Amino acid sequence: MTQASLGQSVVQKEIHASQNNGVAANITQTQPLWLLAEVTYRCPLHCAFCYNPTDYDKHTQNELTTEQWIDALRDARKLGAIQLGISGGEPLLRDDIEDIVIEAKKLGYYSNLITSGVGLTEKRIKAFKEGGLDHIQLSMHDITEEINNFITNTKTFELKKKVAAMIKDHGYPMVLNVVMHRYNIGHIKEILEMAEALGADYIELANTQYYGWSLVNRNQLMPLKEQVDHAEAVTNEFRANPNNKMKIFFVVPDYFSDRPKKCMNGWGEIFMIVTANGDVLPCHSARVLPNMQFPNVREKGLEWAWNDSPAFNKYRGDSWMKEPCRSCSEKENDLGGCRCQAFLLSGDAEAADPVCSKSPHHHLIEKAIEDSKNPVLTAQPIVFRNDKNSKKIIAGELNDRVDEFHALP
Ligand code: SF4
Ligand code: SF4
Repeated sequence: MTQASLGQSVVQKEIHASQNNGVAANITQTQPLWLLAEVTYRCPLHCAFCYNPTDYDKHTQNELTTEQWIDALRDARKLGAIQLGISGGEPLLRDDIEDIVIEAKKLGYYSNLITSGVGLTEKRIKAFKEGGLDHIQLSMHDITEEINNFITNTKTFELKKKVAAMIKDHGYPMVLNVVMHRYNIGHIKEILEMAEALGADYIELANTQYYGWSLVNRNQLMPLKEQVDHAEAVTNEFRANPNNKMKIFFVVPDYFSDRPKKCMNGWGEIFMIVTANGDVLPCHSARVLPNMQFPNVREKGLEWAWNDSPAFNKYRGDSWMKEPCRSCSEKENDLGGCRCQAFLLSGDAEAADPVCSKSPHHHLIEKAIEDSKNPVLTAQPIVFRNDKNSKKIIAGELNDRVDEFHALP
């Protein structure tokens, strides 16, 4: 999947309970308003920044069946979920997305297909429209064929433009996601112009967050601070032009902030992710955390997973915090940041997110920024997201690249 789905909640937060189509939903203190169904880890693209776990190859043989997905949708709906993201990998590699869309509509979800566009045909998009799919989010990569094809390790540039036109032709809002990194951030103005020309209603400029494959490739992908500042300035200028109607969401990169984000809007607060093999997670990367047993839909239902499982309760609220977060006057703002980022970088899942300037581990972020300017490190080859590299990481063959992180997937 792309790094889009969190920002997508910003587009859709205007969706109200009135769209529940009369389906009763239990209102609990925390409620999984957003169900992200990562229906497969298979993908025809090989993006260097992919958010999927680096050991995804373990999970490609035991995908949930159509019936199991439909049960999961039904159970999540009972818990109050109203927004459904259908993601992957590339969800269109499954031939049952049409069935899932129909069921989602019946249950009253607002459904969003998050796709690279590969596999979206006229026949399928018509079926999605008839089935009641509300929204399609397409990933784009650059204005140049060269960078598009390089960063995805595929030849998909022309196809993406055709798919964008097809989405528009079928009356869907045009929603683009562009993951920003060193190779495309300098083209931000042209990317915005391209999006306008394609008739985009909304574009998410998602600066790379460093998890999964993007963490392995951090030195190669991280832009300079000046490039990020320039990109933000260009974005603001574009927004200020009254002729430009397109909505723009610019996801500020963590590493150049001095406070972390409230990751997933709080652990187990509104997001529930069901992975291709049925694991139920509070965030995409949660399986990196040590000593955690995540529930699986094949074993116990989603209600138990959400309300009672030790994993979903582990970092809910703030009682797990230690200093400096515990007594911090800002803790309501960010809940200490991201548990996965804290663990991946510092080895301590309960530490303040190293992004925070108050964290005793903040030097790790400063070092990462310095490393990304080191020509010896940045010249190392990109490890593209593919089955071969996933197998190598599982077998420990790329430890020179991943050893400095405490757990990867
Ligand atoms: S490889 Fe690219 S298209 Fe495929 S899941 Fe990862 S980010 Fe998405
Ligand atoms: S110390 Fe912890 S709670 Fe306070 S701002 Fe930093 S990460 Fe947030």
